[in-house]
Amino acid sequence: MYFSTAGGRQEEGDMFLGCHLSTTKGFRAMGETALSIGADTFQFFSRNPRGGSAKEVVPADVAALASLLQERGFGPLVAHAPYTLNPCAENAKTRDFALLALSGDLKRLRGLPGTLYNLHPGSHVGQGAESGVRLTAELINEVVEPDEPAKILFETMAGKGTEIGRSFGELAGILGKVKLADKAGVCLDTCHIFDGGYDLAGDLDGVLAAFDREIGLGRLLAVHVNDSKNPRESRKDRHARIGLGEIGLEAIVRVMSHPALKHLPFILETPCELDGYAEEIRLLRGRLGEEGPLARWPEVVPVAELKARLAASGTKTKEDQGTRAKKTGEAPAKSRAKGGSKSGSKDVAKENAKVKKTRG
Ligand code: FE
Ligand code: ZN
Ligand code: FE
Repeated sequence: MYFSTAGGRQEEGDMFLGCHLSTTKGFRAMGETALSIGADTFQFFSRNPRGGSAKEVVPADVAALASLLQERGFGPLVAHAPYTLNPCAENAKTRDFALLALSGDLKRLRGLPGTLYNLHPGSHVGQGAESGVRLTAELINEVVEPDEPAKILFETMAGKGTEIGRSFGELAGILGKVKLADKAGVCLDTCHIFDGGYDLAGDLDGVLAAFDREIGLGRLLAVHVNDSKNPRESRKDRHARIGLGEIGLEAIVRVMSHPALKHLPFILETPCELDGYAEEIRLLRGRLGEEGPLARWPEVVPVAELKARLAASGTKTKEDQGTRAKKTGEAPAKSRAKGGSKSGSKDVAKENAKVKKTRG
């Protein structure tokens, strides 16, 4: 347990479950949003996912989140690197950006010790997987210092295009070349490995045995929980909502309750907004016999109730705003996130209703 504490956890064995959240309203706000949907971990982008610019981090805001995590017994958080960070790029400009973004992100996350930094091993773009594996490991060796408090996770990929990290062997190849071995691990994305060909739904034990043989289960530090819109081995990387894809609810429940995995932070990256995540979290906790923070902290107001209060007061919900944005053809999350809400409402649930579906 990372943020163990003060009367929070009932048992050591409790599951950590959450989803991807928007950083728009700051760090502390993410923690509060997480609690309101029954989450006790979450993921966020370390910087603009498609560009690369990083917002200034306010140390007091980070500290306020850190104390909330401590107070409420959160599991480790996951910071997701931008998609533009391609660690196996050969091109000097792309490589320079990868270096700067990675070192800058790690520095900015120092106020949240124990945070896992997840990145895609990248796309080798024609130079070959072997050279991609080597360049990715070299980037980590250049940036990560022995006193780095974060751990770097390489995400298992679906194998779209020239993506590396589809096979456990490629990930093992990267990890084997990282000098500071205790600073690097793996984040398993259920949609990606299924898409990449592993029979997660039919033979979970076989898949985990292969993982253990090639990488070592001890290096698995987080799980992205997503259903897949496409059948196994399609290499398309299209996430589906839990139970609405080809993997299916039962197989996902088996993953989350597996003795080799159940201690890990589970992060949903399904195509839905805050209400949808709240529902998925409720569904999964229910199936796993886990109560989660809403039961543990009775004073936390669930997102559904916040919404009901907003509706009663006549305030527009984010769904309303979403529909309006669609109708006017306004670009969704990006521009709205930038402009922010003019209402000045402090209502976290409302603001986070704007959370866009994420892919990861
Ligand atoms: Fe990802
Ligand atoms: Zn994905
Ligand atoms: Fe993912």
